[in-house]
Amino acid sequence: MSKTPFITKEKAEKIARIYPTPFYLYDESRIRENAQAVKEAFSWNPGFKEYFAVKATPNPRLIQILHEYGCGCDCSSLTELMLSNAIGIKGEDIMFSSNDTPAEEYAYAARMGAIINLDDITHIDFVEEILGRLPETMSCRYNPGGVFKMSNGIMDNPGDSKYGFTTEQMFDGYGILKDKGVKNFGIHAFLASNTVSNEYYPILAKELFTLAVKLEKETGADIKFINLSGGVGIPYMPDQEANDIKAIGEGVHKVYDEVLVPAGMGDVAIYTEMGRFMMGPYGQLVTKAIHEKHTHKEYIGVDACAVNLMRPAMYGAYHHITVLGKENAPCDHKYDVTGSLCENNDKFAIDRMLPKIDKGDYLVIHDAGAHGHAMGYNYNGKLKSAELLLREDGSVELIRRAETPKDYFATLDCLDFYDNLGL
Ligand SMILES: *Cc1c(COP(=O)(O)O)cnc(C)c1O
Repeated sequence: MSKTPFITKEKAEKIARIYPTPFYLYDESRIRENAQAVKEAFSWNPGFKEYFAVKATPNPRLIQILHEYGCGCDCSSLTELMLSNAIGIKGEDIMFSSNDTPAEEYAYAARMGAIINLDDITHIDFVEEILGRLPETMSCRYNPGGVFKMSNGIMDNPGDSKYGFTTEQMFDGYGILKDKGVKNFGIHAFLASNTVSNEYYPILAKELFTLAVKLEKETGADIKFINLSGGVGIPYMPDQEANDIKAIGEGVHKVYDEVLVPAGMGDVAIYTEMGRFMMGPYGQLVTKAIHEKHTHKEYIGVDACAVNLMRPAMYGAYHHITVLGKENAPCDHKYDVTGSLCENNDKFAIDRMLPKIDKGDYLVIHDAGAHGHAMGYNYNGKLKSAELLLREDGSVELIRRAETPKDYFATLDCLDFYDNLGL
């Protein structure tokens, strides 16, 4: 998939006069197009709902756009629940898929009427104790263990992951929940991350549908929904082919007709909790080259750092880079593109072939729309950047201001020295 910046060099210069770099830019029309495509891909299932994984991009303005296409929120913390609540997304439009959950978060989720998706069998008693009685609708997260395989090999390693109930615990758990008065049941599983393949959801769906039929038969639990969770990936590399959500929807439809319909379960709703697929390609980090350094390697220093986008430093993740105004120039220079943290892993690219970069050039770091700004931290006292929305009419809207030193020092306002900061 070719990687195109959302803006030209001229537009970046214009924006930067008002909102200095680095900044995140989200493309409204592409977000809308994709959300519509997801909705259509699963329109064969009347109960379908995408619960956007809030942790990927917790910006209320963006989540409200998705909500226009019927999306709810998948939350896993108190503040994610609070955010959803504050923009009017509540009740069964919220899936609370948490783990190692504090008591007060379950209580808050229950007050909002969120669907609680349990991560562990011991949480049945934990939740009952907190709430007095269990909600009528509950879901459990499944982890079959072992490895998750697709036709191109092993995709992920559920046996090593901390999440979910074992198969045996699923059967015990649904029996216990039913005895305790739960009426409506869901099944959830997240078995592989960032899958760039149209096979993942259909393979996962078949496994969950088969389990659902057995669970319903053996425990009598009335399964109302199956939640395929997240894990649908995006092509970070320019030579990778993007997932085709229509084909994915059709693949799930096919196994639905094969497994659930013959078992008399043709009214089960399909839920998803995609984060990366909904937002990843539609956010770009725009940063400016402020230094060049020629030592044992060739370095370009930019004004963003791992605080703004952590994935390259944390996972060695590839993020494509375009130099604005040099889109068609030959990539005949080999650079490390670095941020300013006192950490040698603070590099957006290593040994990357790019056009010759001059100080003042704008670099667009692609596919940063999910697990990008949100993962930011404040190491070295570096501040998180603004988030901007590129509207359909070409205008730019500030949807999160940049942090200031005052934000950074706010939690020290209990100390005497605070006044000396002169904030
Ligand atoms: C992170 C997460 C998601 C979203 O994952 P993506 O890979 O961004 O699609 C969905 N559900 C749960 C429970 C998660 O933890």
